[in-house]
Amino acid sequence: MSKTIFQHIIDREIPAKIVYEDDQCIAFEDIHPAAPTHLIVIPKKAIPTVNDVEPADEPAIGHLLGAIRTIAKQLGLDGGYRVVINCGPDAGQEVMHVHLHLLAGRKFTWPPG
Ligand code: 5GP
Repeated sequence: MSKTIFQHIIDREIPAKIVYEDDQCIAFEDIHPAAPTHLIVIPKKAIPTVNDVEPADEPAIGHLLGAIRTIAKQLGLDGGYRVVINCGPDAGQEVMHVHLHLLAGRKFTWPPG
């Protein structure tokens, strides 16, 4: 299977504005931001979609929320933020490497588009 664009970012083969990294995950600025703050948070393990998460992966997926809490504190996102996961074509998932969108800096509406 060929590498996704996010795997290239993990491997430092294409540039990205990385804002957070630890042993299990990495977070970087989205190249087409949908809000003043728009980060992509991904596990270092290449898992294509939420449907491909295995029980053994669940701690690493849960870890992403801990990373988001840390990042939100670092960035002072005191007004709140939105976390989004797109899974599959109906949700518009473009990159087949599980990722959380962290969006902040404006008011969000509900339901999402
Ligand atoms: P999805 O639609 O799969 O949930 O979201 C993929 C996200 O990755 C999109 O918001 C898109 O702007 C972002 N993205 C796609 N290619 C790149 C890239 O090369 N670099 C960065 N930083 N973000 C990307």
